[in-house]
Amino acid sequence: MDHSYIWDKTKSVLKDRLPAHAFETWFEPIKPLNINGTKLVLQVPNQFFSEWVDMHYRKHIVSTLEKLGAGPREIKYVISTEATNQLEKTTGNIDVKSTLKKTLPPHLSTGYTFSAFIEGPNNQFAKAAAQTVAKSPGKQSFNPLVIYGGVGLGKTHLLHAIGNEIITTAPKLKVVIASSEKFTLDFISSIQKNRTAEFSRSYRNANVLLIDDIQFFQKKEQTQEQFFHTFNELYQLGRQIVMTADRYPGEMSGLQDRLLSRFQSGLSVDVQPPNYETRVAILMDKAEQNSLDLPYEVIEFIATHLKNNVRDLESVIIRLLAHASLSQVDINFPLVKKVLKERLGDTVSTDISAEDIIGRVANLTNVRADDIVGPSRRKEITEARHLSVYLCRDLLGLSLATIGMHFGGRDHTTALYAYRKVRTSLKTDKRFNRIVGTVKDDLSFAIL
Ligand code: ADP
Ligand code: MG
Repeated sequence: MDHSYIWDKTKSVLKDRLPAHAFETWFEPIKPLNINGTKLVLQVPNQFFSEWVDMHYRKHIVSTLEKLGAGPREIKYVISTEATNQLEKTTGNIDVKSTLKKTLPPHLSTGYTFSAFIEGPNNQFAKAAAQTVAKSPGKQSFNPLVIYGGVGLGKTHLLHAIGNEIITTAPKLKVVIASSEKFTLDFISSIQKNRTAEFSRSYRNANVLLIDDIQFFQKKEQTQEQFFHTFNELYQLGRQIVMTADRYPGEMSGLQDRLLSRFQSGLSVDVQPPNYETRVAILMDKAEQNSLDLPYEVIEFIATHLKNNVRDLESVIIRLLAHASLSQVDINFPLVKKVLKERLGDTVSTDISAEDIIGRVANLTNVRADDIVGPSRRKEITEARHLSVYLCRDLLGLSLATIGMHFGGRDHTTALYAYRKVRTSLKTDKRFNRIVGTVKDDLSFAIL
């Protein structure tokens, strides 16, 4: 019995036992690779995936294998980028081998491609520059290209996308990709092992050198020295160099001036946090990739609350997927809120009050907070009062009686009247919509 047969059998047993959603999410993407002694080797898309499957489903898989009495009774996971090497080592099957791409540069993530990179005004220029470089490495003036910006904004993604593009369009070119930490570690260990020549060779043979997070070179004098030489050599040979950094190279401290001026001699482009529309587009794309059916309101909700970086958006999707597949619950607002709260942790405060809302409305309507809770019946004051009541109910879920108390001891029917009136007006009144939207935007972060 070979590995495919055994895995098919195992799957068909598990398919009946597990919720359909869980089965699809966690079992369909797995590929059986081979049998290694008593171990069935499975290929999974990423580390997170293997941990999840191991934690939640290993028992199921192992007990099924045992029942089948087929030989393997343990499992081993291989992440898909490693899978190529693993296969080459363990199988003599030439058919399988020849269908695989030529060996990938180590550390290149194949999932980070240009087509998986959603474009918005925040990253358009960086993406265009990266694509230009990938099209004609070393043959334009973008050398070196430095992509800089905050955490989780797609710098690493773009760097790998350049590598992935080049290995498919120009497979003869040698692409070397490494983080500056890896470069540093390689350098240090080459000194320890007396192998500096080998180290130099491995980097200086590159046609395209992609270095991630050069800020880690800060204050590492000797490594900088090494990098400077590598850089110069490649540069003089017209090889392409691309680097990413957490800030504009000119603003980095702890780097030698001559290194900085080299870095700035090509093109530096920044990536900014995505705007609302781009966040929505990214969420929709990630949900689709994961076959996660998210209602549009949920996408909007997440996009409204997570503003700063794409990594957070992505991790919310992964968590939702995990929750949904594990407990087979629908993805609804309580679940989304729970997941966002886990994600945002301490930055979420739950103590926003009616006073906060009244203060915010007062600000936006130019009415004094005292007047909102006071007796005046002037039109603009009544309006601000009604809006505040509406928001207290909608955002805080306070009872009408409690709301009445916050508004100068009015009774619950008055509160109900105000609430309904605003709810009706919101269907047509643009100004009301704008005010309500702004207050929600400003405060809803705190209410999750
Ligand atoms: P950085 O290196 O800037 O910290 P990454 O490149 O690691 O950020 O991005 C974090 C995550 O967000 C990655 O999984 C990446 O694929 C994803 N990501 C970032 N920007 C985009 C984008 N514009 N479209 C799609 N995915 C993105
Ligand atoms: Mg990065």
